[in-house]
Amino acid sequence: MEKREQLYEGKAKKVYATDDPNLVIVSYKDDATAFNGLKKGTITGKGAINNKMTNHLMRKLAQSGVPTHFVEQLSDRDTVVKKVSIVPLEVIVRNISAGSFAKHYGVEEGIVFDAPTIEFSYKNDDLGDPLLNEYHALALKLATREEIDLIKKYAFAVNDFLKSFMKGIGIDLVDFKLEFGKTSDGAIVLADEISPDTCRLWDEKTHEKLDKDRFRRDLGGAEEAYEEVMRRLMGD
Ligand code: ADP
Ligand code: UDP
Repeated sequence: MEKREQLYEGKAKKVYATDDPNLVIVSYKDDATAFNGLKKGTITGKGAINNKMTNHLMRKLAQSGVPTHFVEQLSDRDTVVKKVSIVPLEVIVRNISAGSFAKHYGVEEGIVFDAPTIEFSYKNDDLGDPLLNEYHALALKLATREEIDLIKKYAFAVNDFLKSFMKGIGIDLVDFKLEFGKTSDGAIVLADEISPDTCRLWDEKTHEKLDKDRFRRDLGGAEEAYEEVMRRLMGD
């Protein structure tokens, strides 16, 4: 499978056409952005780590009943995935307060919830990805009721799997963002990525941040944190 024309360049990945109209190749970059692109930088080695970590987790998720876009890893940075039309919702699941939740509701970070929360934002960079509820998503025709229900079911299933998987490698899963897409035959599948760019991951003992907050908050050691997660995850 080879790359044809570039279809899209995003903040963290490029997307290429292939000879098969139902497949695209995603290519992970080391570019890091935060605050809707206002802060820009590089996390050396991030692209390869996020690619391998996403694929590893998506393989396991497929085994546990969550359909994904993953097809085949081509190289350190490149992966063949099913081409989907992305549902323009960012789906955020939280187990522990942090980030915008702590800010919006005026609470400290680190409060462990009795049950996970879910929220949606409208995936629209020009509008700054505004929060919306299910009725807003329906009114805007971003998805159908059936699709939203399926997306919620899959998102909580991802949380159940990922939370216990991370616990097994000494990491507390604080929160994460998912994207879903529709394949050419109309199926809803998990798309995009699952990586330290899109999850908050805290060491269970030291509570050290092992994710993109090291870059967002200028804490230093982002490269080392991504490598540490990868080492625990894959043993390399
Ligand atoms: P952004 O667009 O937010 O800057 P990225 O740099 O990660 O994000 O770009 C990857 C783009 O590819 C995103 O817009 C994402 O929604 C999209 N995408 C992810 N998986 C697929 C897929 N299987 N088919 C088509 N597009 C996808
Ligand atoms: N997240 C993401 N992309 C976004 C917004 C959020 O991957 O565009 C992830 C983020 O890494 C965190 C979770 O979603 O793991 C919740 O993020 P939050 O709403 O707290 O946003 P923040 O303002 O802190 O980025």
